[in-house]
Amino acid sequence: MRYFLSENCRPVALRLAEERTLCAFDFDGTLAPIVEHPDLARMRARTRRLLTRLSRAYPTVVISGRSRADLLRHLGDIPVARAVGNHGAETTRPDRASLRLAETWALAIGPALASLKGVWIENKGASLAIHYRQARNKTQARTAILAAVGELPETRTIGGKLVVNLMPAGAPGKGAAVALLRDRLRCRTILYVGDDDNDEDAFALEADIAPVRVGRSRNSSARYFLKRQEEIDALLELMIGLRAAGDAGGKQER
Ligand SMILES: [Mg+2]
Repeated sequence: MRYFLSENCRPVALRLAEERTLCAFDFDGTLAPIVEHPDLARMRARTRRLLTRLSRAYPTVVISGRSRADLLRHLGDIPVARAVGNHGAETTRPDRASLRLAETWALAIGPALASLKGVWIENKGASLAIHYRQARNKTQARTAILAAVGELPETRTIGGKLVVNLMPAGAPGKGAAVALLRDRLRCRTILYVGDDDNDEDAFALEADIAPVRVGRSRNSSARYFLKRQEEIDALLELMIGLRAAGDAGGKQER
């Protein structure tokens, strides 16, 4: 893994700035710091300003585990090209069948999890997130959650930071969503920044992609890393600056 903001990686960033690059970001832990409860997550004002500028310079998308409606609320007036919810599965409003499915799951596992203190189910419309950040014994909580969801047919789980995400078995993940958006927005290269297990299938995408993980990790497919979430601002600034420099150079030549 190489440090994306290092001088050594400058040619990688420069090439992304020169190509038609899709800039894709996860939300929690990437654009916004991780907080105790997902409702409290906020982007810093500086990140908002930079993401707005980046969205004007590159086709920019945000792909989150949140429901799309929730993600759109957090993005507000930032002019991103697309916002995708539910780990890549929700590009538009979820249909009634998938809403009913998540409700059925919540009802089915509710009783088994009710006695676990600090464990709560978040219904995200087209998926469930079962949080155990507040549980005292996290290993025990996770084991109990996995046992309960293991009973549900045609589902798959995606790991996360002190959360188990439950999705329909065939739902596309973040990798599929990123590849689709690259094609839809007629991009050639991809910059993808994420921080979590559910970003791994985007990191591992077979494409012309620079995968950047927030936080260095030995078990990740990402080739680049940022040291901590706060550095997202420096990455945004770098990409904006490189594109602006390229544009200025191009104008001079003409
Ligand atoms: Mg994340």
